[in-house]
Amino acid sequence: MAETKAGSCLCGEVHYQVSGPLRNAIGCHCGQCRKTTGHYMAATAVDLADFTLTRDSGLKWYRSSDNAQRGFCGTCGSTLFWRADGRDYIAIAAGTLDGETGIRLEGHIFCADKGDYYDISDDGYRYPGWLADGDAGGTG
Ligand SMILES: [Zn+2]
Repeated sequence: MAETKAGSCLCGEVHYQVSGPLRNAIGCHCGQCRKTTGHYMAATAVDLADFTLTRDSGLKWYRSSDNAQRGFCGTCGSTLFWRADGRDYIAIAAGTLDGETGIRLEGHIFCADKGDYYDISDDGYRYPGWLADGDAGGTG
């Protein structure tokens, strides 16, 4: 059983806990993730059953596409979550986790859409779009 981990936005008006295993982080370089983060998204994910909002006074949801929403803090602007309709997990911006995460950035998706001002230089996988199984999270 995974230990409980916590995370928050910058100002503290959104706090969450995860009680199950975190997926390794995936870098998403799609146009939406670039806009919302200012660079690219490094997103982990957890089953919704293992996710609890412990403070949500600042939480806002923005419907960024027909089938997905992005959660952010309306007070401090932190990028926090991505959730697709009908899926049983929530993607979490890895930088919002407190302390040691125990995960790694394992690869990158939507590399075809990445900015021209940086290189992807780690040895993780690189896909031009979605992962092969189409269920990576972190975009849309
Ligand atoms: Zn905040």
